[in-house]
Amino acid sequence: MDHNATTPLAMEVYNAMQDWLIPGRVQNASSVHMEGRAARDTVEESRESVAQALGGKTREIIFTSGATEANHLAIYGATEADEHVITTAVEHPSVLAAVEARADHSILPVGVDGRVSVASLADALTEKTRLVSILWGNNETGVLQDIEAIGRLCRERNVLLHVDAVQVFGRLPFRVADLPIDMITVSGHKMYGPQGVGALWVRTGVSLVPTLSGGHQERGRRAGTENVAAIAGFGAACERLPALLSEQERIAQLRDRLWGGLAAVDGIQRNGCADAALPNTLNVSFSGVEGEAMLMGLDLAGVSVSSGSACTAGSLEPSHVLMAMGLSGQHARGAVRFSLGTQNTAEEVDEVISRVLDVVERMRRAA
Ligand code: PMP
Repeated sequence: MDHNATTPLAMEVYNAMQDWLIPGRVQNASSVHMEGRAARDTVEESRESVAQALGGKTREIIFTSGATEANHLAIYGATEADEHVITTAVEHPSVLAAVEARADHSILPVGVDGRVSVASLADALTEKTRLVSILWGNNETGVLQDIEAIGRLCRERNVLLHVDAVQVFGRLPFRVADLPIDMITVSGHKMYGPQGVGALWVRTGVSLVPTLSGGHQERGRRAGTENVAAIAGFGAACERLPALLSEQERIAQLRDRLWGGLAAVDGIQRNGCADAALPNTLNVSFSGVEGEAMLMGLDLAGVSVSSGSACTAGSLEPSHVLMAMGLSGQHARGAVRFSLGTQNTAEEVDEVISRVLDVVERMRRAA
């Protein structure tokens, strides 16, 4: 129940990677000899698979070490140090950190539903704004932003729009070519591929200065020898996209079944906007119970969940996402995220409900 942190490797992905994890196999895709050319072919086939899954052109895909790097490349690569950059208070920390490092930046607030208003973005745009970076589907709450409306506004005002689509890719259908956006970030391990590989899609015509320079890989936009096995796995994961998308309605039903079973718990509250949300995510707070304690209690009961996001796990700070939505510190600290995936079943969900009820009752009795 923790698929927003990472997803299990799909068999097709494992098989594709195995071809490149053979001891003795040479795999530098920049080498001109036969072994190098075979590695190059695999990298380029994967690029085609990623481009097709995203609905963009093959030349527009830059492979990176993951979404964190792709977010940094978009923000630092598409803006000059003195240009104004805008993002929201509910971003992934990799975007917040990059934007906050820019001298001239704005962080937009969100409503109690976790959504940013297009009007507030319009007000924040200035003559010096170069880039807006928006998280499409929130990793903690599942809340979706209105990317089309935001993109139309950015187009009108001649401002670039970068979208972190890590949690949306594989869960909602979209084609980048049809969206009013300029760059999109995706990550392999959030869609049943491997960790350590991701991509930034950059619309043709958008100029980008590399953040990692030196080598000529990725057409001069990202230096460093390609991780052929991981890229092969990412390509295989992208080829599963139609099958993955066809699972999402079933997953949404499981998510609703989970909420249906938990809603009866005394003092439970669902966090975020249920009407505009990822199909797989349910974020709830249990009043009077710490999210971290719930996480540990559920772990002992054999249920893997997250309190807030994995990236902030271990810190006692309440989630910056829930705080930005106006939740009290106590309420935010009581938050638990359930995020479902393709392997979950209705029987598992029923079992999870009963174990959660058990753990909550035990914790409240002990308090
Ligand atoms: N953006 C979002 C929305 C995420 O959920 C994550 C993973 N926590 C990242 C970016 C970072 O991805 P990666 O692990 O590939 O660097």
